[in-house]
Amino acid sequence: MRDVVIIGSGCAGNTAAIYTGRANLKPLVISGHEAGGQLSLTTLVENFPGFPEGINGPDLVENMKQQAQNFGAEFLAGSVVDTDLSRRPFRLNVEGEWIETRTLIVASGASARWLGLESEQKLIGHGVSSCATCDGFFYRGRKIIVIGGGDSAMEEATFLTRFASKVTLIHRRSEFRASKIMLERAQKNEKIHFLTDTVVDDVLDVSKKEVTALRLKNVKTGEQWDFPTSAMFLGIGHIPNAKVFSGQLDMDQDGYLKTTNNVFTRVPGVFACGDVQDRRYRQAITAAGSGCMAALEVEKFLEEH
Ligand code: NAP
Repeated sequence: MRDVVIIGSGCAGNTAAIYTGRANLKPLVISGHEAGGQLSLTTLVENFPGFPEGINGPDLVENMKQQAQNFGAEFLAGSVVDTDLSRRPFRLNVEGEWIETRTLIVASGASARWLGLESEQKLIGHGVSSCATCDGFFYRGRKIIVIGGGDSAMEEATFLTRFASKVTLIHRRSEFRASKIMLERAQKNEKIHFLTDTVVDDVLDVSKKEVTALRLKNVKTGEQWDFPTSAMFLGIGHIPNAKVFSGQLDMDQDGYLKTTNNVFTRVPGVFACGDVQDRRYRQAITAAGSGCMAALEVEKFLEEH
């Protein structure tokens, strides 16, 4: 029987682990299918306070993990596949093994969104990727396409110019959601070309088991053409990892967990923090902040019960 289990090992989960660890609650952190969360898939983080020169995302999250371990947090590799939150202690099924806990912190984050094309799904790992830092290296000297108009797409496109001979950023509208500074950085980069009002209709060529071109369509003119490329990187946002709580915790129409007073779910003793419940800020620092809040509420809850 655990006092607290934390689902997720990104910024929110690790911060909750540091706080509950220091409170001597010996937290168990279930790392999840993307250990380290989104920070582990990013490059230089320049806006996390305390690092004037910036810090690499994977280093930042690994530091947090070590800090949590220093205070007694345990990490378990694996994902939660089933839950029973109908009574306390809560029960969690981690890939076949049931774990009981008095309180629960859900910090399971959000995962990359895909276009949803059959050809795209078949070519994941063969030229289709959602992680520039993981896969960019494989496309040295090649032409690469990045999809999206937000900060992730700008960041991926800029990062990929380290490897690619040319990066084409394709966006479905002509206005960008990205912050001004990141958009301008990408626009100033000579290796990045922009194609707006354009969508991907198909990824070629499944029969060759590699990406050779994208079938594109201009949404204003309807014109369709094949655009040769070696890879397609998705930077089109994320989907919350909360399916396992469906029917047990409240969610909005896109599957984000609903919270009140920052981290309270409708089940007393279950708290949610980070990107799984935050579609507005979605920053490393706000995830860390809400992880701290969830940990403090767990302490209070255990004292009161
Ligand atoms: P986002 O801001 O939601 O942008 C997603 C982009 O993908 C939008 O431009 C959207 O187009 C497009 N898109 C969504 N679904 C699509 C589809 N099916 N087909 C084609 N395009 C599609 O997501 P994000 O860029 O991942 O950023 C999320 C948050 O993280 C933001 O708050 C961002 O500031 C932050 N972030 C910060 C940094 C940094 O500071 N280093 C880096 C990355 C992300 P529409 O615009 O037409 O909807």
